Amino acid sequence: MQKKHPYLRDKLSIEQRARFQRGTDVGVLAHEVFPGGIDMSPNSPSQFPKKVQETMENLSNPEVNVMYEAVFQHNDTLIMLDILVRDGDRWLAVEVKSSLRLSDTYYNDAALQYYVLHGCGVPLSDFRLMYLNGDYVKDGPIDVKQLFKMESAMDYVVEREDFVAQNVERLKAVVALPHSPVVNIGTQCHNPYPCDFQGHCWKLIPKNSFLFTTAMDDEALFQSYFNGVNTNAKMLQVLDPDSEEAHQIEALETNSFYIDYKTLYSLAPQPKPKSVAFLNLLLDRPAVPELDGTRPYEEMILAFALQGEHEQDAAIDPMPPTGPRRDDMAAENCFVWDCFDDHNRWKEAIGLLIERLSRYELIVCFTPQNLTTTLLRHEIIQNQNVGYKIFNLYEVLQEANFYHPAIKRGLTLQRLETALFDEAKLFEHSRILLEATSNDLIGYQQAREDLITENKVVANTYQHLFK
Ligand code: SF4
Repeated sequence: MQKKHPYLRDKLSIEQRARFQRGTDVGVLAHEVFPGGIDMSPNSPSQFPKKVQETMENLSNPEVNVMYEAVFQHNDTLIMLDILVRDGDRWLAVEVKSSLRLSDTYYNDAALQYYVLHGCGVPLSDFRLMYLNGDYVKDGPIDVKQLFKMESAMDYVVEREDFVAQNVERLKAVVALPHSPVVNIGTQCHNPYPCDFQGHCWKLIPKNSFLFTTAMDDEALFQSYFNGVNTNAKMLQVLDPDSEEAHQIEALETNSFYIDYKTLYSLAPQPKPKSVAFLNLLLDRPAVPELDGTRPYEEMILAFALQGEHEQDAAIDPMPPTGPRRDDMAAENCFVWDCFDDHNRWKEAIGLLIERLSRYELIVCFTPQNLTTTLLRHEIIQNQNVGYKIFNLYEVLQEANFYHPAIKRGLTLQRLETALFDEAKLFEHSRILLEATSNDLIGYQQAREDLITENKVVANTYQHLFK
């Protein structure tokens, strides 16, 4: 599909774009471990042949000792290598990963790169994977030599070379076909990663097909589908009418959602709390530590919005000059704090949260994380026997088997809003982090407004389900 119809690819989500950007930022920093190199990155795919030729010329140029993003091609397979360093009469190949540990996927990527490098006749002294050192604590300017760790993948890539060669031949045969191969949709569309071509390949599948349910695993769903049980009606005939799968299909047929209300109400806060607040935390985990005393991916609180009856006094709290207008906030009963302009202030959030959360009996939120653990980690609560309870709608809805077709791709506040209120006003949550780290006053203001908007949806959801 990528070869014949790249334009059919689904649009990247904000989250995916942010992940790619993070990889690029870490990759650029990694260059400093081997400074003074030539950047071979092509500006566009049309430059690949030129860059392949220049890379090969640089190999025999004694004045070139380091290349970044060197481009190699062998047997119709093209790679870009993050860093290539002259090492005596050989070369050291380095591939950079913006994570704290190495996975099989990284080793397999390295095996493909080695196959091409070997095929191009590049004599290698080693092939190393470079990744972030979780023990590194920033103290002053980033020390790139301490920030990264390296591990040799040489034994693995050499051993995998034959396997890679066979796969390259197999894939070349696929690419050489006049058309994209006719492959039925199946478990491979979601596993190991959601495929970017689902918008195209799944377009003939009715929007209310049981293939969008989540109660049964994909393996079982597709097995039924290819064994002739390929409509909702047929599927319902073989299911227990009280099964979760059957309830999900009914929700699809009626274009609504399903909740196991019995479980939901059993989870409702008891006794009914006298005071409820809604909390929306904005956390950031920069891959490269920003602040002294922090490690890669260490969490910090960039902002929070707290909506509740005691927040009228937000109007008289000192706010940063770039903060939301005080009268807006008072009208919302919503207190917003942030440190967008100076992340060094992030720990101020801890004192404010300790003080403000204690004024309520129940704190309602919606987050895939365990909020209690987050608050414990930052010592906002010292132990779980605090005076207020955390009520995470995300966890509650999962327990109550909440289902809506859109959540096949995961339960998010945005999809929950669509399901419950038939509205689609919300945005991807990742957008707030992009705005908050945009170094732009308008972005900061938008992030504050978005935090409040999300919190309103949390409040509406709670009131809708437990009024
Ligand atoms: S959506 Fe499924 S069938 Fe289509 S290209 Fe992706 S994995 Fe293959």
